[in-house]
Amino acid sequence: MNPTKLPKTPRTSGPENSHLHSKAYLIGGGIGSLSAAVFMIRDGNFPGDNITIFEGASVLGGSLDGGGNPETGYSLRGGRMLTTDNYECMWALYKTIPSLHHAGKSVFEETMEFNETYPPHSMARLVDSHRAAVRVTSMGFTMQDRIELLKLNNADEATLADSRITDWLSPGFFQTPFWHMWSTTFAFQAWHSAVEFRRYLHRFVMEFSRIETLAGVKRTIFNQYDSLVLPLQAWLKSHGVHFLTNCMVTDLDHTAKRGEFRVTAIHCINQGKSERTTVNEGDLVIMQNGSMTDASSLGSMTDAPPKLTKDDSGGWTLWEKLALGRKDFGNPRAFNNCIAQSSWESFTVTLKNHGFFDMMTCFTGNEPGTGGLVTFKDSNWMMSIVLAHQPHYPKQPAGVQVFWGYSLFPDRVGDFIPKPMDECSGEEILRELSGHLRIDPETLESAICIPCLMPYITSMFMPRLPGDRPLPVPPGSKNFAFISQFVEIPEDVVFTVEYSVRVAQIAVYQLLGITLKIPPVTPHDKSLATQLEALIKAFK
Ligand SMILES: Cc1cc2nc3c(=O)[nH]c(=O)nc-3n(C[C@H](O)[C@H](O)[C@H](O)COP(=O)(O)OP(=O)(O)OC[C@H]3O[C@@H](n4cnc5c(N)ncnc54)[C@H](O)[C@@H]3O)c2cc1C
Repeated sequence: MNPTKLPKTPRTSGPENSHLHSKAYLIGGGIGSLSAAVFMIRDGNFPGDNITIFEGASVLGGSLDGGGNPETGYSLRGGRMLTTDNYECMWALYKTIPSLHHAGKSVFEETMEFNETYPPHSMARLVDSHRAAVRVTSMGFTMQDRIELLKLNNADEATLADSRITDWLSPGFFQTPFWHMWSTTFAFQAWHSAVEFRRYLHRFVMEFSRIETLAGVKRTIFNQYDSLVLPLQAWLKSHGVHFLTNCMVTDLDHTAKRGEFRVTAIHCINQGKSERTTVNEGDLVIMQNGSMTDASSLGSMTDAPPKLTKDDSGGWTLWEKLALGRKDFGNPRAFNNCIAQSSWESFTVTLKNHGFFDMMTCFTGNEPGTGGLVTFKDSNWMMSIVLAHQPHYPKQPAGVQVFWGYSLFPDRVGDFIPKPMDECSGEEILRELSGHLRIDPETLESAICIPCLMPYITSMFMPRLPGDRPLPVPPGSKNFAFISQFVEIPEDVVFTVEYSVRVAQIAVYQLLGITLKIPPVTPHDKSLATQLEALIKAFK
């Protein structure tokens, strides 16, 4: 690897050693914190050795996981669709992070080359109950749908407030091909936030006209733990950053005087032992408040995943404690108060023969890695599967294949298994999938399916009011910032890696007084509303 080839980002105009004696404590080890640490070192001249990341889990990466093995089965909570028309902060970050697999290249470069080799173009985005790939020639809008969509598009966020998508669009809209594709691509439910849905329409306006082929999507070479998390972790390690895993932060001592908030100590359970870290004058604390994968649980071929809540995980407790009686610190309850509205379930399947992939290649017309989501649009569970390019793990043996799937409605009984998905074992999920594809069970005979229940997976999409999400650096905070999907930044959309990176960049730049420019949210069209209007009108 030749890091000198990677573009250098100009550093802050501040003195090189202004943070020499400061320490930074990052609570949570998701991509938000990892990127915050990079911004501190790369753009803020903060010594890596003075940064400590506290992570409650046993590995870093948070929601970007990629575990398991070929013997007992691989497991991923999710697979990411990325774009280059958006994701400005994320790609700017990865332009300066060396690849672990292609010497002399950045993660950005290797990912773009991969996407040029395997351009996505789905030919079977939707499959109906007759096992037919649906040719999408229309978004299915009626005149009423178009009028309502335009009204929602033209409403401002103050008007939309905490309304739901169903408050703006009539039942027929939720039966259109557009909704089937849009909701399963971005994991929206009809009862989610109208504000967030409108932000998505604006941010992803480019995807509107190619939603049936997913041609705008960019994929990583391997799963995102290997392709995105490990390169960041390696970079940070080489700069001396300290990682404390199995270390749950339970409380923050602080002072709040004359409108100034300052953290003075961190309490944690580190490897089972209670510890207290003093936060001195000049030190910084950056916290990941809330997580979409909090309280997630895995099942097996024989067992459904256990149903956990935040009481089991304690993942929201710290934010709840801090926000109590403090308006500027947001309102976690807006996001975590109804699992029935925020959960869904994914599953990862490990195969040891080519039968299933060969059948899917023939059925969809897509080589693995070029198709993306295949959604069984009439399925009770609203099930989708994705066959990524193989191998999906760097050390995956030849002859082993891995695919991922998810269902938006795991609380409904299946079409082929008379049980809600969230009560099903991996074996039962495979039988349901076989039913939709009308394949003989032998095709999936040696498969290992690991289900994963995520009670808060769409908690970021829950209807919210202004103020429910704190600002990255709340007013009056002297040494403390929030970075997560539950922090307010204008225009951008949650449930994206980009949002986590952008929030981290904003928080770090503000706390360290870095004056470099943060890539703006791309204004794809100066008259975005007009463009969207034209698109809505065009698609009948
Ligand atoms: C199934 C799925 C599909 C997705 N699809 C896409 C997609 O297609 N495109 C896309 O861009 N994004 C997608 N995402 C979203 C993306 O993965 C997330 O937005 C991003 O990874 C969130 O990162 P984060 O660092 O903000 O938070 P997290 O990954 O949630 O990390 C937070 C971390 O903080 C830790 N933590 C929290 N509290 C404490 C504490 N008190 N002490 C110690 N540690 C603590 C948690 O254990 C966790 O590791 C998807 C996510 C999932 C789960």
